[in-house]
Amino acid sequence: MNRVVTHELIHAFDHCRAHVHWFTDVRHLACSEVRAANLSGDCSLVNEIFRLHFGLKQHHQTCVRDRAILSILAVRNISKEVAQKAVDEVFESCFNDHEPFGRIPHNKTYARYAHRDFQNRDRYYSNI
Ligand SMILES: [Zn+2]
Repeated sequence: MNRVVTHELIHAFDHCRAHVHWFTDVRHLACSEVRAANLSGDCSLVNEIFRLHFGLKQHHQTCVRDRAILSILAVRNISKEVAQKAVDEVFESCFNDHEPFGRIPHNKTYARYAHRDFQNRDRYYSNI
């Protein structure tokens, strides 16, 4: 439940913060799906298991890419190749965009750190 709601809230966040052309530019959708898969925990459980058992550091990235492609194909009538191309074009910058968390909340500890960062967000500039 938390993962699904977080996933959709990432889309809502993107919709509010940028002029997203959801229906006319598939790269915009691809970017939001990459972010939602990366930040919602969609890949966390699998990721943990793979890291422990196989030590595959790249697994998280692979999982995010695959999930983003599947999400696009679920809502757009386009070929897998077109979806893959869109995801690959935006992957680098969108995978590294961790707003509004400032980090990938891989587990509860990281989520706590993200919340702590959020609570401290104005500290530095308010002292100048
Ligand atoms: Zn989505």
